[in-house]
Amino acid sequence: FNRLKESLTKTRQGFVEKIDNLVHRHKAINEDLFEELEELLIQADVGVNTALELVERVRRAARERRLEDAGQLKQVLKEQVSDMLEKGGSAINYRADPPTVIVVVGVNGVGKTTTIGKLAYWCKSEGKKVILGAADTFRAAAIDQLEVWGNRVGVELIRHQEGADPAAVAFDSLQAARARRADVLIIDTAGRLHTKSNLMEELKKINRVLDREIPGTPDEVLLVLDATTGQNAVNQAKQFSEAVGITGIALTKLDGSAKGGVVIAVNQALNIPVKLIGIGEGIEDLRPFNAEEFVEALFS
Ligand code: GDP
Repeated sequence: FNRLKESLTKTRQGFVEKIDNLVHRHKAINEDLFEELEELLIQADVGVNTALELVERVRRAARERRLEDAGQLKQVLKEQVSDMLEKGGSAINYRADPPTVIVVVGVNGVGKTTTIGKLAYWCKSEGKKVILGAADTFRAAAIDQLEVWGNRVGVELIRHQEGADPAAVAFDSLQAARARRADVLIIDTAGRLHTKSNLMEELKKINRVLDREIPGTPDEVLLVLDATTGQNAVNQAKQFSEAVGITGIALTKLDGSAKGGVVIAVNQALNIPVKLIGIGEGIEDLRPFNAEEFVEALFS
């Protein structure tokens, strides 16, 4: 918990400390205060609609409880954030008859490879047998980088040549996962932005091939988003979720971001749960997202 709290320092400074400052200045609860709160939430990247809704919820709760002292608002805000996040934040779905297949998508640079490495490490430390599939065949460097992580964690990587068909890598990875009786198969995919439509077709094809082999797979399509990019991350989430069904989000670099409010934004805007959060570059710096714990770390 302390590690999580520490990683949210920047967000806390950019958000909760400003709220403290706001309630100290206003002392009494009034419309000016609500307006400033709205402004502050928008700046913290929770998104305009979410900011409006949050303020409305806080306003209503303050009225119902007949609160007058601005100092009491922080607690109300905390409750409402928690409430909004509660419906999200679920764990990875593991299938009863392995392998569980996790496809990881996201644009280059968001921390996709690192997240796959950390996730593999985490699954392995839970006693699961993991196999990685290098289906980002667009860049040789991506395959090599994933191999470095595979070696570090001590899990096997299925790879083809650069330029090979990503769906063929997915197919071979699945065969290997079955043959080796792996519990979890994690498949990396390309993240080039410029040829977006081709990329989306490529991802759909990977999913089709997997589903044909084991109906219902992939069990998870995790979208990796970089928390430091704020509203950009929300836009990426929209694009990916329109093209391929996203089951959950892995939000990276929360430690380097003052825009932790984006957790609330992606949750609200798309109704996709944040399942994992990245709070550092180290192998252990991936956490299952827990709304209650997150809000506690943010506000305490
Ligand atoms: P990819 O292009 O999406 O595969 O991105 P990489 O996995 O190569 O990561 C890009 C950079 O982000 C690397 O320097 C990672 O160490 C860094 N990174 C990834 N996740 C996190 C995180 O949670 N926190 C921090 N501080 N850095 C991260």
